[in-house]
Amino acid sequence: MHFRTRAIHVGNEACKQTGAVVPPLHVASTFVQPGAGDWGEFDYSRSGNPTRKQFETTLASLEGSVGALAFSTGMAATHCVTSMLSAGDHVVAGSDIYGGTYRLLHKVASRAGVEVTLVDSTDAANVAAAITPQTKLVWIESPGNPKMTITDIAACAEIAKKHDVLLGVDSTFATPVLTRPLELGADIVMHSATKYIGGHSDLMGGALVVKDKQLFDDLYFVQNATGGIMGPLEAFLCSRGLKTLELRVREQSRTALELSQWLNGHDQVKRVLYPGLPQHPGHDVAKRQMQGGFGAMLSFELTGDFAATKKFAESTKLFQLAVSLGAVESLIEQPASMSHASYDAADRAKHGISDGLIRLSVGLEAVEDLQADLEQAFKAIE
Ligand SMILES: *Cc1c(COP(=O)(O)O)cnc(C)c1O
Repeated sequence: MHFRTRAIHVGNEACKQTGAVVPPLHVASTFVQPGAGDWGEFDYSRSGNPTRKQFETTLASLEGSVGALAFSTGMAATHCVTSMLSAGDHVVAGSDIYGGTYRLLHKVASRAGVEVTLVDSTDAANVAAAITPQTKLVWIESPGNPKMTITDIAACAEIAKKHDVLLGVDSTFATPVLTRPLELGADIVMHSATKYIGGHSDLMGGALVVKDKQLFDDLYFVQNATGGIMGPLEAFLCSRGLKTLELRVREQSRTALELSQWLNGHDQVKRVLYPGLPQHPGHDVAKRQMQGGFGAMLSFELTGDFAATKKFAESTKLFQLAVSLGAVESLIEQPASMSHASYDAADRAKHGISDGLIRLSVGLEAVEDLQADLEQAFKAIE
């Protein structure tokens, strides 16, 4: 079956008891057992819940994997992976990773004695060079945040395999619609389901998807032991989100491409960072590893200073001023004052996050309306 069909049918069988086309939402915390010490399929909702399982089954199918685990947030999912590491273990991570992942690695995992090296993963040779005998995990994100850097997942998988280390990919921006890292050789895919999978800015969630049964069992053990599971209501909404994921992501990507082409020629724009543009340094790799679109996130640098950029971000009306991303409503933010404000100015400069940078999460509105909204914001800072 095709992706779209699986998104609707796998894991979503009609209710046997009532015939309801949409499986019921199971909120029970505990389940009646066939006998003492005789476990049924479900016993306690931290360990397993039918509604959560339904979402996990569909997502596993979409990523081409043996199983998925759903968490309360994306960070809880990533934390489950870093919880498998021990003192002395080493992680190589891309430098363009999510700020929360940076904080988890440097302020939480580090307390357990885990060492971290950040490298510019857009050149896979940097990843290879950073691996030591203690390295257990390579963690990358593509497209990266907020510069939309592209990391070659297949090249990193080859390096990880050669050194017998796990490759984890935060695939939140790409979604399984555009990129399926497990098919490219990755071991673990992580999603913030808060973003495209939920898709409507109304839930928090995360997921891990893996190819290997033993790895799945190991991660499940940690998830059950630490308890950061996704609640049933969120799982129900995520199942609903998956049904329209392909349509949303393709359409939002199309709009993002069109906006990036228009911004590219605008005289108040210094440069546009979007992997769908031929001049983007990751364009060729993106063409190979992203199918049918380059994502709906795009950044661009204004010719104006910090104050002008701040004013621009505050002047749009359809693009709402907010962090987060991936939903049907378009959002705008200034990384220097918002998503990346916790970096000090020198660090931001080192990472190429300038004061003039604007990040857009392109939603499902009509492209003409979004363009007109940006145009009136440009006029406001002229
Ligand atoms: C939002 C996000 C996360 C963290 O997910 P939460 O659901 O907010 O915990 C991780 N990675 C990326 C790329 C994200 O955008």
